[in-house]
Amino acid sequence: MARKTTGKKEKEKTDMADKKRYCYAFEEGDGTNKKLLGGKGAGLCTMTQIGLPVPPGFVITTEANVDYLEYDKFPEGLMDEVHEYMEALEKKTEKGFGDPNKPLLVSVRSGSALSMPGMMDTILNLGLNDETVGGLCALTKNERFVYDAYRRFLQLFGKIGLGVKDEGFDEIFEETKKKYNAQVDTELTAEAMKEVCAHFKDNIKKQTGRPFPQDVWAQLYISIEGVFRSWMGKRAVDYRRQFNITPEMALGTAVNICTMVFGNMGNDSATGVGFTRDPGTGEHMMYGDYLINAQGEDVVAGIRTPRPLRELRTDMPDIYKELEKLNSTLEKHYREVQDYEFTIERGKLYMLQTRNGKMNAWALCKTSVDLVKEGLITEEEALLRIDPDMLEQFLHRRIDPDFKQEPLAVGISASPGAATGKVVFDADRAEYLGNQGEKIILTRVETKPEDIHGFFAAQGILTSRGGKTSHAAVVARGMGKPCVSGAEGLDINYELKEARVGDVVMKEGDIVTLDGTAGAVYLGAVPMLDPDLPKDLKTLMEWADKYAKIEVWANADTPDMAQRAREHGAMGIGLCRTERMFNEADRLPLMRNMILADTPEERKRWADKLTPMQRQDFVEIFRAMNGLPVTIRLLDPPLHEFLPSIEELINDVNRLREFSQIMYAMEQLPGTVAMLDPELYKQMPSIESLTREVGDYRAKGLDQKLLKQKEQVLRRVRVLHEYNPMLGNRGVRCGISFPEIYDMQIKAIFEAVAIALREKIDARAEIMIPNVCTVQELVWVKPRVENLHKEVEKRYNVKIKYKFGTMVEIARACLRAARIATVAEFFSFGTNDLSQGTFSFSREDAENKFLPIYNTEGILRHNPFEILDELGVGRLMQIAVKEGRETRPDLKIGICGEHGGQPQAIEFCHRIGLNYVSCSPMRIPIARMAAAHAAIKENQVGAQVTRAL
Ligand code: ADP
Ligand code: MG
Ligand code: MG
Repeated sequence: MARKTTGKKEKEKTDMADKKRYCYAFEEGDGTNKKLLGGKGAGLCTMTQIGLPVPPGFVITTEANVDYLEYDKFPEGLMDEVHEYMEALEKKTEKGFGDPNKPLLVSVRSGSALSMPGMMDTILNLGLNDETVGGLCALTKNERFVYDAYRRFLQLFGKIGLGVKDEGFDEIFEETKKKYNAQVDTELTAEAMKEVCAHFKDNIKKQTGRPFPQDVWAQLYISIEGVFRSWMGKRAVDYRRQFNITPEMALGTAVNICTMVFGNMGNDSATGVGFTRDPGTGEHMMYGDYLINAQGEDVVAGIRTPRPLRELRTDMPDIYKELEKLNSTLEKHYREVQDYEFTIERGKLYMLQTRNGKMNAWALCKTSVDLVKEGLITEEEALLRIDPDMLEQFLHRRIDPDFKQEPLAVGISASPGAATGKVVFDADRAEYLGNQGEKIILTRVETKPEDIHGFFAAQGILTSRGGKTSHAAVVARGMGKPCVSGAEGLDINYELKEARVGDVVMKEGDIVTLDGTAGAVYLGAVPMLDPDLPKDLKTLMEWADKYAKIEVWANADTPDMAQRAREHGAMGIGLCRTERMFNEADRLPLMRNMILADTPEERKRWADKLTPMQRQDFVEIFRAMNGLPVTIRLLDPPLHEFLPSIEELINDVNRLREFSQIMYAMEQLPGTVAMLDPELYKQMPSIESLTREVGDYRAKGLDQKLLKQKEQVLRRVRVLHEYNPMLGNRGVRCGISFPEIYDMQIKAIFEAVAIALREKIDARAEIMIPNVCTVQELVWVKPRVENLHKEVEKRYNVKIKYKFGTMVEIARACLRAARIATVAEFFSFGTNDLSQGTFSFSREDAENKFLPIYNTEGILRHNPFEILDELGVGRLMQIAVKEGRETRPDLKIGICGEHGGQPQAIEFCHRIGLNYVSCSPMRIPIARMAAAHAAIKENQVGAQVTRAL
């Protein structure tokens, strides 16, 4: 072959002393440097260096790829290096590249820092041409094998190196099979394969206008270029976009040149893939597949059914033993479960690839604990293996993964889990049927606060409108019930009590199944798996709590939720929303009357009726949380949320007015009929009695009374109407405008504590005031709290300890934290409102209208309502933490917005020194894991890295 003289090479080497180096032999490369060598290359280097049998080869670095793409040609010196390393390969293998007598064949394999399955390509058997096939035949005495290898090479090389489409090759192959009446590849003879090769070469010439390059060096250049280019191929680019693979994570592909070994040289040869542990269960056992007398890609292609790896014990006992040893060598080195490829050529085992094994969540938990027990990893490392969000799968029922069927409709995965039940289109009916023990799927176009009793009764919630933050989604998540929202294919008709999807009609009572995790709706019942907590989760959670610094509390509004939160390990309730309690069917009317009251006295009268109900809720929550803090937020949402809408009221008023007119007309009926048609009148004797009845009814004046009531409500609702209720009279502002409401709530809290204390329950109430923007608001509320506190203590003759604090959810409150902390004993960040205010985005509008565009245009990388905006909102939080604690060093600070359950936000909260995060009960295990991660990662990087203010 055309080679440069050694002398010239030496000189070049010195010239290049400080130039980039592009090639590393498997013996040389730094196996920890995946960014430079790619995952596959790094693995090959490591395996070679720890003494595993890897066919000789070398890696061309990702930098070479990057430089190639930049200059649009091979970077200077690259090909010289490739020559040098090929020469070394020839020496090691005692074969010659392009040597017809002892041909060296190699594979040219792509591999970037991150695995991108099926995205880039590998060329096998490179080095074959019309001369070397002859040599190989003589060596192997197996013509069929050689021409099979040749045709595989021609196709892969044609495709990857020269861009010839698969179809042409596939057609030729199929035609040949037909011609020789062969069902499968293996039935083709050597002669047939020879024909295939000849046609493949013709095809390449036809498609490219040039003959297939017989020069093996040209083959090598073209193949390396082909792999380089595949990095920017559409498939690969799309894949990286889809999975958010940034250039920092993986930039360019390496090219691995690896001596070919053959698993298809007879029955003493084989190929396979293995896992050092079962990736489905985590069990420590030989796991994998192999095929006797086959090449690597045959296992994946499914040409023949592979056999389970444990059968190799009988097929090839020695190799099996070697593999067992090798498993443990791999795990000892990587301290991680490995997924590897191997090939056996004439009784000799070769390793071709290894990487960290992808496992399901169950296997990951088990192996995390096992690897610690076996002394391979530390507890911290075991915890870091587990992505906190992954734990979600354990906590919910889920559709059997074996179930495969087209869903009836798809929507947004608004709340995870799965549920089957009867479709019901309104909340009252859902409650009624639910109370009779029916399983219900509450199905609405969208839901409103007044549907809450339907949520309690339902197994799951389905809506045809709204996103991840719609009322349905938020409430369902809070309750831990599955929800599919925005299933737009669903055409719901409340009148007919049915929903249509194309031709399919779903009537009330029909059975459906929701998959809230995937956002799918299925007709009928679907096989499901119950929540399945891995045995080892408890151990992992104990470890997590040991390392975590920030505590995990729960957002829980009801005794049930509090109970569940505690079971999942909550260390307190960070947010108990009192308004949810008012939405229950028996309370809403009282609540409405209280709001509609014209005078403070009347309002107090209604409030007094609500006190015992609210008190009872609190007592039960204190029982569930015995010994742990319960943060109760006083009424927060604008009052109109509890009232009927103006349209609804106008409708009622109009109906009642029409009714009155009709009644009047009925009373006049005898006279009117007599006037119109005296004969007819005589024939209608009953008309008088009817009229009398109507008259009696009218005398009662029921309709008039109701009409007056409705008109009064309408007037009041109009008075309460706000242009921008979320920025209007809500939270503490409303509490100050209508003090009877807060008084009632505060009294209920203290009385509940008193009652609980009598039961020997350690009730720890923390009263939280929402929507505070100035310390003066707290200064106004505080004395009322103190008075009621004294009053209840006296009446019940007990000592009640409590804390008084505030939500911090208004930007101004962050900036005035130093003053606010003079009164507030604790802060809790309400990052939903705080994000809305900081961005001046209304969440629903932002998410429905412009955030998607902002996202695709790269203006905002994330939805700030899902991913906490550390730079803006986070900065306000930091100010509040710092200045609040300057006033009150022991100021307790938490977060109770939805971000509180989000691992990235938890890490941030840990960094800025919050005491706790509070999240929905179902996210507690996730948050505990995330809290541990935050602490462990911080120790790993050493000093605390908090952005300066
Ligand atoms: P992928 O990233 O798609 O797994 P690989 O580069 O690992 O691609 O190669 C594809 C197939 O070819 C695998 O089954 C691999 O084991 C096999 N293979 C790659 N190089 C060689 C070689 N030098 N000898 C034998 N088989 C090989
Ligand atoms: Mg592979
Ligand atoms: Mg708020």
